Amino acid sequence: MPLDPSHLRPSTRLVHGGVQRTPHGETAEALFLTSGYVYDSAEQAEATFTGTVDHYQYSRFANPTLTMLEDRLALLEGAEACRTTATGMAAVNAALMAHLKAGDRVVAARALFGSCHWIVSTLLPKFGIETAFVDGTDLDQWRAALSCPAQLVLLETPSNPMLEMVDLPAVADLAHAAGAIVVVDNVFATPLLQQPLRLGADVVVYSCTKHIDGQGRVLGGAVLGSRKWITETLQPFIRNTGPALSPFNAWLLLKGLETLALRVEAASRSAAAIADFLAEQPGVTRVWYPTRADHPQQDLARRQMSAGGTIVTFEVAGGKVSAFRVMNGFRLISISNNLGDAKSLATHPATTTHMRIGEDERARLGITDGVIRVSIGLEDPEDLKDDLRQALAGSTRGVSPLAA
Ligand SMILES: *Cc1c(COP(=O)(O)O)cnc(C)c1O
Repeated sequence: MPLDPSHLRPSTRLVHGGVQRTPHGETAEALFLTSGYVYDSAEQAEATFTGTVDHYQYSRFANPTLTMLEDRLALLEGAEACRTTATGMAAVNAALMAHLKAGDRVVAARALFGSCHWIVSTLLPKFGIETAFVDGTDLDQWRAALSCPAQLVLLETPSNPMLEMVDLPAVADLAHAAGAIVVVDNVFATPLLQQPLRLGADVVVYSCTKHIDGQGRVLGGAVLGSRKWITETLQPFIRNTGPALSPFNAWLLLKGLETLALRVEAASRSAAAIADFLAEQPGVTRVWYPTRADHPQQDLARRQMSAGGTIVTFEVAGGKVSAFRVMNGFRLISISNNLGDAKSLATHPATTTHMRIGEDERARLGITDGVIRVSIGLEDPEDLKDDLRQALAGSTRGVSPLAA
């Protein structure tokens, strides 16, 4: 008798969850690179379309490789159902557009990924949806914004790039009382370090591009929630608007999941050590890391997350000039706006990922010109510390080793 995968521990689910072997008995998950499916008879085709027979119809609606990925992700998250999409943004957009209609009201935490912020501030209002932003760390602002009816709450915790935490159970209670579902972008925490559905959220979205692939190869997204919401609300939107994930990318993401626990644990351990290291370096004015004693919401981070995650944010004295000197001085860490890769990547949010939100919004979020975000990869942390040390030293000397 096959094991019930829901009784298996997370790392085992990541390797075995969702596997559907074909009669060939392949070890690895099969890659069904097919757009369509054939029927044994016209009757079977008819029965498939009326829903009395379960048969794949078309890869815009469903595909066996995608099903394996969706089942594995759902098992990991503890969700009843999952649908995957071509990108993380397609996942966020589908979750919002499928649920909302003209006249609805959305309340969102201000500290959102740039494109999520754009959807809430610019796209939704075009369709007659009212939107309001709050400081996600301030429960009074949530309480005020949710004192009148709302249909959806969108938030990210920890947030990008300042690693602010939102109190999920408290916000979920306020949201539900206002009539809203809670959608959590859980990219920074990963499904291993924080399970928003267990903390009161209704829907979780991922950019699988980040830690789930984790090796910088493909884009992908996922939406997880109750079977009823996924099948009745989300699936018709996905089926008819076509943000489908490629089976090839789904196959890579399945293989990425197999090593997710090993990668996230190692990178998170390195990130915590590097945050402590950075806090002691000359020229570093501040470090943000969720589980550090100086994080303003350390207690909340420890309640909601089992570890601090793979991202460290720090600020150097001297603003943009110093930050650019440090970044240009890196020899091992690469400059990139991406994150969650095996390779460590550094970002200057003010001039790249958070350039478009404008100076005022950046000031409200605390994204100064001296802030650098580092996504810690799988290198030996001592090599990363050496690189940070020499880049910071070069910047305080006013000479970048690479520019010199
Ligand atoms: C990258 C990212 C997204 C968007 O994902 P894509 O796969 O790039 O479309 C959304 N939210 C967060 C927090 C992200 O880091």
